[in-house]
Amino acid sequence: MIQVKIKGETSYPKAINIGVPQGSILGPKLFLLFINDLHECRMNGMLINYADDCLLVNAAKNKNMLQKQLNKDLETIKKWCDGNKLRINLEKTNYIFFSLKEKKQEDTMSVKIHECNNNNCQCYEIKSLDNIKYLGIHIDSKLNWKKQIQNLNNYLKITNYHIYYLRNYLDFNSLKTTYYALIQSYITYGILAYGSTYDTHLKVLKNLQKNIIRNVYKNKKIKVQNSIFLNIQQLFIYRMIMFYEKYPLPPINNVHNLRYKTNTCEIPHREKFKQLYTFIYTKIHKIIPENIKNNNQSKNKFKKTLKDWIKEQEHPFELLKEYM
Ligand SMILES: [Zn+2]
Repeated sequence: MIQVKIKGETSYPKAINIGVPQGSILGPKLFLLFINDLHECRMNGMLINYADDCLLVNAAKNKNMLQKQLNKDLETIKKWCDGNKLRINLEKTNYIFFSLKEKKQEDTMSVKIHECNNNNCQCYEIKSLDNIKYLGIHIDSKLNWKKQIQNLNNYLKITNYHIYYLRNYLDFNSLKTTYYALIQSYITYGILAYGSTYDTHLKVLKNLQKNIIRNVYKNKKIKVQNSIFLNIQQLFIYRMIMFYEKYPLPPINNVHNLRYKTNTCEIPHREKFKQLYTFIYTKIHKIIPENIKNNNQSKNKFKKTLKDWIKEQEHPFELLKEYM
């Protein structure tokens, strides 16, 4: 039963036979309980759910196989939805085709969630996009992260303007807190994905970060390396090492084996794959000092030691070049 109370007036109770009331505290939990068996369906691809956002990832050797796999998985999902009285919002459903090759006209696929039982199919074609926004991160079909960086850049520009104004009223410590909350937290969100893209793409962010730090220090000449903050590439490395501390068994391959075997990492054939943090980690792991590698310090102490070490590496990616 559901009742609504507005300004002390309570409505008549109404029975809910299916679904969860919007905005309720228990709602999201009930929804998760309702949909979690979707993951028990047999599928070709990998299904990722975040609340009511559903992501299906499929990979195949060629486009035809991919199209087949994808449509088959969508059929499975559709069946599950029908059985559970849920409807897929087709208008909000899109697909993105990732490929390192130049995009051609024939790269579009026919992706449908059929409602026709295969007679005279006029079902809705799911639209292909070059960019999608997933959990606040812009992902593009070439994995260049241009849109993500541009978006972040726009946000940081506006926030820098606020910091520029605030510095007349706040002391350094308050500005520092503001920087961590409004700048660094935004830069680090998704940095494992975009942080290793080409330097030319990151340049604009680096310059802006430099500017913001100058405002925090109220000093036009301060350099990032002389400040207490980590630059973008240092932040990338920091987050990457922290990530592997937290999840020692990464999904792609067990790079932690490198603690024992130092030369097991195969160098990817394609330049693009060298940007994957899973690959970079295997490289950086070779130069991490032993006291950080054999971490037996408290969490805060470890973070501090790690930060200090990264801070010493002014251009951490330069350091990695000889290993790449
Ligand atoms: Zn159809």
